Amino acid sequence: MATATLTIDLAALIRNWKALDAKTNCETAAVVKANGYGLGAGRVARSLANAGVRKFFVAAVEEGVEVRQALGPGPEINVFSGHMSGDTDMIHDMQLTPMVNSIDQMLRHVESLPGHDFGVQLDTGMNRLGMEPAEWAALREIVEKQTPTLVMSHLACADEPDHPMNAIQLRSFLEMTQGIDAPRSLAATGGILLGPDYHFDVTRPGVGLYGGMPFEDAEAVAHVSIPVIQCRDLDEGETVGYSNTWTAERPSRVATIAAGYADGLIRKMGADVSVFHGSVACPVIGRISMDMIGVDITDLGEDPRELDILTEDQTVDMLADAAGTIGYEILTSLGGRYTRRYSS
Ligand SMILES: *Cc1c(COP(=O)(O)O)cnc(C)c1O
Repeated sequence: MATATLTIDLAALIRNWKALDAKTNCETAAVVKANGYGLGAGRVARSLANAGVRKFFVAAVEEGVEVRQALGPGPEINVFSGHMSGDTDMIHDMQLTPMVNSIDQMLRHVESLPGHDFGVQLDTGMNRLGMEPAEWAALREIVEKQTPTLVMSHLACADEPDHPMNAIQLRSFLEMTQGIDAPRSLAATGGILLGPDYHFDVTRPGVGLYGGMPFEDAEAVAHVSIPVIQCRDLDEGETVGYSNTWTAERPSRVATIAAGYADGLIRKMGADVSVFHGSVACPVIGRISMDMIGVDITDLGEDPRELDILTEDQTVDMLADAAGTIGYEILTSLGGRYTRRYSS
């Protein structure tokens, strides 16, 4: 076999959800957009539902359809992008709850599906999705009569606890929702860590469930092992990989492993990451290719069958730092070529 294995630790996922839930006195939902941050929306949602999660969030109705098929009737599946043109049948048939973002979406929703559940997304300063204060002021009374299931907004800078934007958005959210009967939601993973002022009635963690920052205490959920295709001996002075970027400074033993940037192991990570045989780190050498990576195994003293790149110790955020990105992007870039295993 020359494809890498992505093992998803569902027990660790549940422990992360419970640890975030324990930080609040309100309901904790789960965000499973982008195929459950790349780890498999259906499997992830099913195990979270078994652990007691009753509210899920996805980005688009198409994702909601997959999650509904995995969960069956019952749990609430909320859609951040709201009610777009063409979404009506899926929203109806799959019992999805759009988070309505504008007057246009509100009209579309009540005209096409009167009486069908919906929530409202408000813009409190991120300027990405949701009704602006003036728009909301004009519509609030009419919308409230239709009893939205949730009124939510999203924080732009929650991963920076000292950023003044957090308090600005909190104040705006409080002003816009003062006296409302509907449950309110402001916090994703970062917002949960900002403390109780940000929790309201429902929190919506995503990345923290999957083992990513800013939830420092998260357990790793994704593990990647890569099979060794071939090992060879190099003389001092020989080079490895495209553009000859690595030269052996001693007689060396080099392994070629079967994953590369097409598997989300971003080329720019290069030599800033290691791969592991048990707890022994082996340096990545030369350029990361599309389907292969070179590894210096000289000091290992044996030819391993496989090497690990995503482990309890080398986290998604460490790979992200090496690639100049964030853990979210590493997780969602892992791609379709892995053999996926779920452990629980
Ligand atoms: C992605 C997203 C979340 C989850 O954010 P994390 O930082 O992954 O916890 C919550 N709410 C909205 C609106 C989102 O887009």
